[in-house]
Order: sequence, then C-alpha cells, then structure tokens
Amino acid sequence: MREKRLYVECDRCHTAITVKQDPEGSSSVVNGIHLPDRYEDLPEGWVRTEDRRDLCPDCAKKFEQTMKSFYGDRK
Ligand SMILES: [Zn+2]
Repeated sequence: MREKRLYVECDRCHTAITVKQDPEGSSSVVNGIHLPDRYEDLPEGWVRTEDRRDLCPDCAKKFEQTMKSFYGDRK
C-alpha cells in the first residue's frame, strides 16, 4: 500500500512538513477520483486561514495576535 503524505507549507516562514495521512480515513473519493485537496487533518497547531493559507504554529500565534491588535479583541 502506498503511503499517502500530505505536504504543508507555511505561508509566512515557508516551513514545510509532510504529514502522514490515514489511507482509510480522511481522503474523500468522488466518482472514483481521490480529492487530494483535503486538509482537514492539518498537524496540531497549524491553522488554515480563510483565504486558504497555511500557517505553522509559530506564525499562527503571530497571526492571531496581529488580527487581535488590528481588529481589537471584541466579539
Ligand atoms: Zn511559519
């Protein structure tokens, strides 16, 4: 069985990692075609922003703080 790996690169600092994916699990198959663009299983700490950029844990924290200071911490 071929191991399925997901490549994730940080949009800010370009840290890149690969993630092993459960071959039985999260990949979706539509009409017999595997959809590779399924990133629900980002590594712990990584986030995907609304505009589909991936951020490593470090940059995710900075991003969060930037958003808070930019928009204020209101809800
Ligand atoms: Zn980063």
